[in-house]
Amino acid sequence: MTQIGTPENPLRVAIVGSGPSGFYAAEHILKNDAAHAQVDLFDRLPPPFGLVRGGVAPDHPKIKSVIRVYEKTAAREGFRFFGNVKVGHDVEVGDLERLYHAIVFTVGCETDRRLGIPGEDLPGSHAATSFVGWYNAHPDYAEEEFDLSCERAVVIGNGNVAMDVARMLALTDHELRQTDTADHAIEMLDRKSIREIVVLGRRGPAQAAFTNPEIKELGEMEDADVVVDPADVELDPASQAFIESEGADKTTRVNVEILREFSGREPEGKRRRIVLRFLSSPVEIQGDGKVERIVVGRNELVEEGGALRAKDTGEREELECGLVLRSVGYTGIPIEGVPFDERRGLILNEGGRVLDSHDSGHKVGHYTAGWIKRGPSGVIGTNKKDALETVTQLLADVESGTLLEPESPEPSAVEDLLAEHGVRYISFEDWQAIDQAEVGRGEPHGRPRVKFVRVEEMLEHADALDVADR
Ligand code: NAP
Repeated sequence: MTQIGTPENPLRVAIVGSGPSGFYAAEHILKNDAAHAQVDLFDRLPPPFGLVRGGVAPDHPKIKSVIRVYEKTAAREGFRFFGNVKVGHDVEVGDLERLYHAIVFTVGCETDRRLGIPGEDLPGSHAATSFVGWYNAHPDYAEEEFDLSCERAVVIGNGNVAMDVARMLALTDHELRQTDTADHAIEMLDRKSIREIVVLGRRGPAQAAFTNPEIKELGEMEDADVVVDPADVELDPASQAFIESEGADKTTRVNVEILREFSGREPEGKRRRIVLRFLSSPVEIQGDGKVERIVVGRNELVEEGGALRAKDTGEREELECGLVLRSVGYTGIPIEGVPFDERRGLILNEGGRVLDSHDSGHKVGHYTAGWIKRGPSGVIGTNKKDALETVTQLLADVESGTLLEPESPEPSAVEDLLAEHGVRYISFEDWQAIDQAEVGRGEPHGRPRVKFVRVEEMLEHADALDVADR
């Protein structure tokens, strides 16, 4: 094999998925001047940035400022963006193998984990992933419908996504209208009748997965009281011993402190209430053709394999509600031609090198980073270190010459292929124009942007600019 990573034979890498892990992988590769790398970053949607655009809550604009870092990566020599290109549909993994020395899959975990309880699919019971996509103007969820005309909504899960959706249901119209929430969602949320949002955690306050700023925020809402039953924050002896032990992290201790403070509050008579309940699992969702109530089982904590697990006590309670948002984590979707670990819902890999099967070696030239490599955990920054591990392996394979041997490594080959397949891709310049247009639409209303929702709208906008440029 001729040496790769020279000015005559630059390292050509395709990255599939332009969320944080995709951009961090691109940054780590392009920073390494010695590799003379060229990176083509693909995304199935026209806009880049994955969950930073389509997941982060609209009332958390500061978190989205990480986009500036990704824009710097996009400005590096050797970077190109191909939005609106779905790998496995518009181009196949096999096509990429013929064009690049290496492929890095950074597609995230795109779907929800199931609860596996009766009534889970009744109208009115939704995965939090679709609610999040809907309020964030994700094109896949634009047509979703949420009946917000009920008095009580139940959110299942105790992670940060559960916090986000509970808060979004409790924001006032005034608070929402300062954000980049999709217009269709603002309109519906403005008319909601929901007065109470109950959040169910299957374990106790010391086992909650949310982090301190996110739980604290629920106590600072403009027009919603937070309610915690004092009995729920009396910890069982094992949890109490745990938070007093060396093993407990600060986040857990502070979460418990915040929840104890909430439990001592008198409601201020605000228009809505967010009720946080613990040791409570959904057992069944019931209703005649749509969600009308949820059966909640009371748990106790038992020690099992060094962890405290929720065990059903058999005690039951029914809660009337019209909306259930299931927020119990994400899982990955397999890509045709990429080995997948069905049990874990991830691409089969070791430290970012994709494996052919559980007991065989590296599928040469194939890598992965981010949630689809390690699972749906951590904050945005966690993906930087994660992508570095993967890129370190990739660059070691450049050194040893164990990469793919593409038939057509020249940069124009992928453009020719997309033209042949009739795919209108979105370049980073196209995206910047769409971005500016969105920001411009927000300005008169004092909003950071008004997002385009439909892919066609975005493409039309990019096409109009291309015509204007000529
Ligand atoms: P998560 O943090 O893994 O939380 C999932 C929650 O679902 C846990 O409380 C879990 O309880 C519960 N759960 C799982 N199976 C359940 C079942 N069968 N019945 C009842 N409850 C069940 O997942 P996430 O909230 O989707 O968040 C994903 C990642 O994104 C996290 O790392 C999160 O911190 C991050 N994120 C961060 C922000 C932010 O920084 N503001 C915002 C959103 C998301 P157990 O612990 O008992 O399993």
